[in-house]
Amino acid sequence: MTTEQFVQLWQCFGTVVRAHQEHLDDLDRAIGDGDHGTNLTRGLGKMQDLWKDPIDTERNLADLSKKVGMTLLSTVGGASGALWGSALVKAAPVLPSASACDDETLVLWIETFVSNIEERGKAQVGDKTMVDVMRPAVNWLKASTQEGSARLPVLRELARQWSEDTKDLQARRGRASYLGARSIGHVDPGSFSSALWWACVDRVLGG
Ligand code: ADP
Ligand code: MG
Repeated sequence: MTTEQFVQLWQCFGTVVRAHQEHLDDLDRAIGDGDHGTNLTRGLGKMQDLWKDPIDTERNLADLSKKVGMTLLSTVGGASGALWGSALVKAAPVLPSASACDDETLVLWIETFVSNIEERGKAQVGDKTMVDVMRPAVNWLKASTQEGSARLPVLRELARQWSEDTKDLQARRGRASYLGARSIGHVDPGSFSSALWWACVDRVLGG
């Protein structure tokens, strides 16, 4: 991954989240407070300011992960902002202070921020959160990278399916958990936005 691809990844995420803002809010309205699409759109929109910064011409990956995380922390709000933001800040040192990294480092970075999300949110697979997409996706990526055959378009489809699968689960973390069994029958909004993120990984890094 190069710094250019890093920037493209977050620009892509901003674009697709904006395109799905209403749907994400609708999902969150069913089992939360209806702000997930609005929250993410606000933070990812604000992030565009980062790419205009002239000081940022000498970008390095570690710095970018930290800046993106800090921007999400301060602008997204809600549980998702705190989780994405702090995880990206904490994962920044995994990336080199250089303008590119190899695939192994890229996977390690993603795995580190997913682990940070799990730690901070105390959520596991099956709890009906973004972890239900992020964890299996990074495990799949890791395994297929080791085999030397990361087929990102396949992963993109799997991520959508994993998000869809959260419908049958009862929420055990976050706002939706207050609903108990009534949370069953609805897709978790954070899992849906996570699947959008993996679609961008495919679009930007899929070759
Ligand atoms: P809020 O719930 O504060 O309004 P958002 O609506 O922006 O925040 O985000 C909700 C999403 O955050 C949920 O759909 C879920 O995927 C994710 N989430 C909430 N709590 C946790 C947690 N403890 N661990 C992991 N993900 C969580
Ligand atoms: Mg919400």
